[in-house]
Amino acid sequence: MARDSVLADLGAKGADGGAARELTEAVRRYRIDGASVRLADHDPGGTGPFTARDRGLARALLRAHTAWLTDRQRALAAQGQWAVLLVLQGRDAAGKDSLIRHVMSGMNPQGCDVTSFDVPNAEELRHDFLWRYHRHLPTQGKVGVFNRSHYEEVLVVRVRPEHLRSQHLHPSLIGPDVWDRRLLDIAGFEDYLTRNGTAIVKIFLNVSKEEQKERFLRRLRDPAKHFKFSPSDIRDREHWDAYTEAYEAALGATSTPRAPWYVVPADRKWYARLAVASILVHAIAELDLDRPAPLLADPETLQAARAALEDA
Ligand code: ADP
Repeated sequence: MARDSVLADLGAKGADGGAARELTEAVRRYRIDGASVRLADHDPGGTGPFTARDRGLARALLRAHTAWLTDRQRALAAQGQWAVLLVLQGRDAAGKDSLIRHVMSGMNPQGCDVTSFDVPNAEELRHDFLWRYHRHLPTQGKVGVFNRSHYEEVLVVRVRPEHLRSQHLHPSLIGPDVWDRRLLDIAGFEDYLTRNGTAIVKIFLNVSKEEQKERFLRRLRDPAKHFKFSPSDIRDREHWDAYTEAYEAALGATSTPRAPWYVVPADRKWYARLAVASILVHAIAELDLDRPAPLLADPETLQAARAALEDA
């Protein structure tokens, strides 16, 4: 589907067509195209073409994007030949959960699976490191969201060595090249998936250290938000720089044309949601969804079924 026709669709649904175009241009700059990544070059406070005063317009645009996604999800399910995987990564309090709620709000829950990955259980630790992620991939016709993902295997597992120790690996398998090998394995895994009908979009929600502190403090002040706080959040914050390095290595090694990474500014949640919606819209627009799937039954079988029903 041509980009202009997508933008026309978004404009036709009530939002400003020009703003959708500017958003598309801004979002394209978040894509990682080279192997060398410096997060310091990406501003977590960015709001693309908008200012805080444009929040009404941003809301209208988000509605237009979710309406578009709702419509195309139907086509994705009807055709049943592509799966879409949205990988969401970010530091604690980057806004992953609320982003999923907002961006996926109009989708049919039957065609959309969200999987959150926590610390692996005993069974998962006895398998190869990609096993538990493979089991939760979306099937053809569905959208899958990974809230944290196989990338934790080169992020938290890299930064906190006790996780690698719990993976039952022979010492000969965990030499200094273990992370480069895992990144190669991940890139190979994603290549394989894209060659077999899964479109992959990967988002790093880039929140600043200051904004993360504010969000933690808000959680601690508000009893209704206490459940979101975990002591490990503070421990991970102490490893901020180690996570930065691990993210930079992962983004640089695994951003490919078919499974690109986007570093999305996440200090302003209203903008992060809109940027991710735009990325998802354009990834789905690339799929050839209007070609009908081949009929499962041949015309004679359909005719016989019709005749049998009419005679019954
Ligand atoms: P979130 O922080 O995403 O809202 P939780 O508070 O449940 O969700 O945290 C999930 C935790 O599980 C995170 O600290 C994350 O680093 C950890 N985790 C996820 N995958 C793995 C993994 N493969 N190995 C170790 N820890 C993991």
